Amino acid sequence: MSAPENLDAVLEARLAELRQRGIYRELRRVDSAQGTRVRQDGQGLLNFSSNDYLGLANEPSVREAAIRASERFGAGAGSARLICGSQAPHHELEQAIAELKGAAAALSFSSGYAAAMGAIGALVRAQDVIILDRLAHACIVDAARLSGAKLRVCAHNDLEDLENKLRWAAGRVPRPRVLVVTESVFSMDGDRAALPEIVALKEQYGAWLMVDEAHATGLYGEGRRGLIEETGVTGRVEIQMGTLGKALGSAGGFICGSRALVDYLVNSARTFIFSTAPVPAAAAAALAGVRFVQSPAGEDRRQRLWQRVAELQAGLGLPPQHRGSAIMPLRVGDEALAMRSAAALRGRGILMPAIRYPTVARGQARLRLTLTANHTREEVSQLVAALGALELPSVRPPTPPVDHVPNH
Ligand SMILES: *Cc1c(COP(=O)(O)O)cnc(C)c1O
Repeated sequence: MSAPENLDAVLEARLAELRQRGIYRELRRVDSAQGTRVRQDGQGLLNFSSNDYLGLANEPSVREAAIRASERFGAGAGSARLICGSQAPHHELEQAIAELKGAAAALSFSSGYAAAMGAIGALVRAQDVIILDRLAHACIVDAARLSGAKLRVCAHNDLEDLENKLRWAAGRVPRPRVLVVTESVFSMDGDRAALPEIVALKEQYGAWLMVDEAHATGLYGEGRRGLIEETGVTGRVEIQMGTLGKALGSAGGFICGSRALVDYLVNSARTFIFSTAPVPAAAAAALAGVRFVQSPAGEDRRQRLWQRVAELQAGLGLPPQHRGSAIMPLRVGDEALAMRSAAALRGRGILMPAIRYPTVARGQARLRLTLTANHTREEVSQLVAALGALELPSVRPPTPPVDHVPNH
C-alpha cells in the first residue's frame, strides 16, 4: 500500500499548475457598496465589470426594502420553506415575478444556480435528452450532467445543429422527452439566441424549452420582461429562468411558468426543498427591484443604459448597433495576456478583470466589459481613452443579430 498523500501537498501542486497556466484566481476585498466606483484593496476604481445593469444593488428604495423586511421578518428565514412556513416576502416576490414575466406562477430559489439545478434535476429523467447551446452557463451544464439525462451540446446559436439533434432524439425508440436549454442574452459574449426560431423548432419536434434570462430580465421588451417578450414568444416557453442578482439588484434566482410547473417544483426541486429559504431581506429587496424596473424611473434607467452603450460603441469606432448589449467581450485569447491587459487597466483606475478558463474556453480569455445605467458619459469617455492606450488585439461587438424585431 502506498503512503497516504498529504491533502495540502496535493492541493499546492494543483494550485501551482493553475498559476503556471495563467488561470489562478483570488479574491479582492472591496470596502464599499457595489456600484460604478468601488474601493478595492485600498484603490479607488471605476467598475466596468458588474452585472448590476440598472444600478439597483445600492439603490435607496431597494436598500430600504431590505431594512424594513429585516425589521419586520427578522434576519434569518429559520428553515426551508416547507418546514416552518413560508414567509410573506417570498410570496409577494413570486407574485411580482410572475406578473413581470407574464407567467401564471413563479418560484424563487437561493440563487440562479440553485434554480437551474433544482428545475432541470426535477424535470428530466435518465432516459430523457437535454440539448444545450455550447455557451450555456455552468449551472445549466452542471444540472444537465447531474440529471443523468443524455446530453447533446449544439454549436453556439446554430439552428441547423439544433434541428439535427432534435431530429436525432425524435428518431430514438422509445422516443425520449427532450428539453432544450439556452440563455437568451449570453453572459460572456452579450449576443442573443434566436428565440423565435428556437421556439418554432421545439414546437415542431415536441420538445420543451427552458430559457435563462439572467442577462435580459429587466432590460428588454416593452414590459421589461426580457428577450422572450422582445422577440414576441411570450407564452410559448415552458420554463423561464432568471436571477435576482443582476438587473434586479438583490440575490436569488427564480423559475416561472405554469401553475403545474411551480407546484411540481415545490414537490421535487431538491435545491428548493433541502435548502434554507433566502433571508427575508433578499426577497424584499428583489421585490423592490422588480417594482423599480416596472416604474418610470426604471424605464429612465434602462434608456440611460442604452445611451451609454451607444456612446461606448461610437467611442470605440464600432458600427452603430441598433440592438444594444450591455455586455461587450474584448477578446484577447491568451490567458496571460488577458491578465496583463486587466492589470494595465487597473493601473489606469479601471476595474475589468480577465475572464478565463473555465468560465470561457481555453485560449479564449477576454476582458468582459459591462456598462450600467449609473455610468456617466464622462466615465465612458475615460474608459474609451484607457482602452485606446491598451492596444488590445481586437475589440469586437457582439455577433450580429439573428432575428428581426426592432430594438429599443
Ligand atoms: C449569473 C448567472 C446565473 C446564476 O445566477 P446566480 O443568481 O448568480 O446564481 C445563471 N445563468 C446565467 C446565464 C448567469 O449569468
